[in-house]
Amino acid sequence: MKIEKIETFLVPPRWLFCRVETSDGVVGWGEPVVEGRAEVVRAAIDVLAEYLIGQDPLQIERHWQVLTKGGFYRGGPVLSSAVAGLDHALWDIAGKVYGAPVAALLGGRVRDRVRVYAWVGGDEPSSIGDAVAEQVAAGMTAVKMNASGQIQTSPSVAEVNDIVTRLAAAREVLGDSRDVAIDLHGRVGVAGARRILHAVEGLQPMFVEEPVLPEQMAHLSSVVETSTIPVALGERLYHRAEFMAPLNAGVAVVQPDVSHAGGISELRRIAVLADAHGAMLAPHCPLGPISLAASLQVSFATPNFLIQEQSRGIHYNVSSDLTSYVVDPAPFTWVNGHAEWNPLPGLGITVDEAAVRAADKIGHSWRNPVWTHEDGSFAEW
Ligand SMILES: [Mg+2]
Repeated sequence: MKIEKIETFLVPPRWLFCRVETSDGVVGWGEPVVEGRAEVVRAAIDVLAEYLIGQDPLQIERHWQVLTKGGFYRGGPVLSSAVAGLDHALWDIAGKVYGAPVAALLGGRVRDRVRVYAWVGGDEPSSIGDAVAEQVAAGMTAVKMNASGQIQTSPSVAEVNDIVTRLAAAREVLGDSRDVAIDLHGRVGVAGARRILHAVEGLQPMFVEEPVLPEQMAHLSSVVETSTIPVALGERLYHRAEFMAPLNAGVAVVQPDVSHAGGISELRRIAVLADAHGAMLAPHCPLGPISLAASLQVSFATPNFLIQEQSRGIHYNVSSDLTSYVVDPAPFTWVNGHAEWNPLPGLGITVDEAAVRAADKIGHSWRNPVWTHEDGSFAEW
């Protein structure tokens, strides 16, 4: 069996899918995308396809080595995301050939269901209480929200108080038996992050995400040590080596994205590395159905798993949602806030190829907003 054809599809709301076809007619799907840079990843796939065409799709790790290292220059979001999508597709093919879910090929599932959380609020969170109540009514046991909208690098008292007020509103609805996490999105500086962690400590969020930007990792330990709140990060890290510094700084939760950090192969390795540091895996996944299906395979097979992100109803999904491109939405139907075990082979989903091909004709040019502070200078989004 040989890889014969590799295609990419730019589909709304902001995704890129890839389809890998073999000489035996087995097809694997992947989701290689950097949000806002999908066209660039598409070009990277075209270059990597030059190597993959004609290869045996079942030698996944061998190809992973060549795809990540064979071009001499390595790493970064674009290349690592392109490799990730191809890696999903090769695992999907392997599962279909061997007649097993990818989780089974990773050693088998270690749990019967995977806890997922829902997003509440958008980039400018408001009326959090109602949004949380809606998720509780839907059976969710955990939610995540942005801590703030646009915020000063050194936040004002009012800005810090707003974060506390919104988190308190969520906690009031959730009670003590459900969880809420907040995402700082690297929007404030290191000192600002320490102040915010202090201010929200009594509300006991499940974790605080991205308190500092990846380039400020050297100062992460001061943030970790400032409170008892678990610190989480990793959506902008792309390789296991990049997780060494935050794990040594004491992060409690790592959040690699299966569409950015080298795919199923590398997510699995990052999880193992985290386990050796006593940290847990909470895969980042605000993306589409193939990405989530790939992520769930790792979550089912990972002992030190905490919770899975998913994008059903997320604020980015305006024109299409998680179920728009799959034949059967059952794998993304949450039961009491959990994804149920899915015994289907490969990634466990059937992509609606006709819908994908039609959507690609429309395409998209999604870009994240570019924010500015009141004085006109650049603000982190
Ligand atoms: Mg985040």
